[in-house]
Amino acid sequence: MVLDQTLTRRDIKRNNRLRIYNRLREVGSFSCLDISMDLGLSLPTVGKNISDLEEAGLVRSSEEKKNTGGRSSKLYEVVADYRVAIGVNITNQHISAVAIDLQGTVVAHTRFRQAFARCDDYYKKLGAAVQTVVLEAGLQDDQILGVGLVIPGLLTKDGESTYYSRVLRLDTDMTCEEISAYIPYQTRFFHDASSAAYAESWYNHDETDFFYMMISDSICGAPILDAHPYRGMNFRSGEIGHVQLIRGGRQCYCGKRGCLDAYCNTKVLATVTKGDLALFFEELEKGEERVQTRWKEYLHYLVTAITAARMLFDCRIVIGGYLGQYIDTYMGEVEALMRKEDPFSEDVDYLSVCVCKTEACASGGALSLIDQFIQTI
Ligand SMILES: [Zn+2]
Repeated sequence: MVLDQTLTRRDIKRNNRLRIYNRLREVGSFSCLDISMDLGLSLPTVGKNISDLEEAGLVRSSEEKKNTGGRSSKLYEVVADYRVAIGVNITNQHISAVAIDLQGTVVAHTRFRQAFARCDDYYKKLGAAVQTVVLEAGLQDDQILGVGLVIPGLLTKDGESTYYSRVLRLDTDMTCEEISAYIPYQTRFFHDASSAAYAESWYNHDETDFFYMMISDSICGAPILDAHPYRGMNFRSGEIGHVQLIRGGRQCYCGKRGCLDAYCNTKVLATVTKGDLALFFEELEKGEERVQTRWKEYLHYLVTAITAARMLFDCRIVIGGYLGQYIDTYMGEVEALMRKEDPFSEDVDYLSVCVCKTEACASGGALSLIDQFIQTI
């Protein structure tokens, strides 16, 4: 009984410390009085926690002071680069890496073309990508929380190994240890769509329950419930790309035919412009006829896909991935088509485009590590 009471008190104390720290992260800088009033905590509780956080190096007093009726009070801010996490996104053709600080700011970024290969030379390139962002951000080893390796593949629960990746054409399971041979920090795997959805929920605080559709060279979804990913029994929830759209239809990379992926991935658009998706949307804006024809056909399938997700979850739907970078201008057209598809409502205010437009996958990998660290404060 005594032990339980002790734990409860410790939990409350820790909870107050986290609330104070997170509030400071959100607002930038605050005085103890501001925090006290904002969170409904006593001034001595706030003062003690701030003092502990300052001693730990997580918080510092800022240069700025707040003037309150003749008296100026000290303002505090988080030390954003106290710890930094790195996220690396691995695709078939590219490697990109970001370094993100405790406030979620990207402090370094690199991206280069590199075909995936399961060999030593490729692993050296991965190590080089990590070193590039470490040097660009001027990080010391003890600042680095770890490296989230984000891949287009299904993963074991512990994030240590893949168990399926047709995109990377893996014949056997690949371990995190194998691929991290030239990364001198702690690493773990993260799933690409789940990471992108995680980044979206991090930067878009209003969205706590939504289905994220990562529409890029391949398609995958990720359900986010109460700001947490719902992963499913085998860690492959949201694999909407392999829902059959047309029986016996186009060949999908998974080996089946007629999957939604084969009709709605962004390569379907880019094939009209020699693989250049940016050029596709430039020509669409100019009204090029062959591009418009492909777009109209594509939208027909896309709307079917979005409607399927909406019917399943009855939640907000966020369009992300490469398509999310370009589709804002065309949302009126998408919504007009959606109104005809939805049997229950003509209002399509549940549909939106991602706010995290670039490097969402890599960012999600880093942000997961940031959140794990913050839970230990
Ligand atoms: Zn498929």
